[in-house]
Amino acid sequence: MDISLKPGVKIEGLRPEVVLGLMCVKEVFDKYRYELVITEGTGGTHMVGSLHYKGLALDIRSKHISDAVTKAKMLFDCQDALGENFDFILEGDTRINEHFHLEFDPE
Ligand SMILES: [Zn+2]
Repeated sequence: MDISLKPGVKIEGLRPEVVLGLMCVKEVFDKYRYELVITEGTGGTHMVGSLHYKGLALDIRSKHISDAVTKAKMLFDCQDALGENFDFILEGDTRINEHFHLEFDPE
């Protein structure tokens, strides 16, 4: 399956740790046969102190995954593949806003 960037996504300053994490996530998306679209990188508006601004976070499209069970499985598989140094969560409270958020955040 393809990997693509939403037009206008800012990727300057993205750290290699996150790119490595993205490779793990890509394997899971391939397994479930979903396109992986990066919807935000180091740009956009996030909460103060967000790891997006440090190049340690990425947002990935989730709204094209219509089946909730599949989405939950992908969430689990991605976190499992990434290990404890990463967080992989579903963010956004509406269907329009929701997305996966990947960040490198070792304790
Ligand atoms: Zn995010």
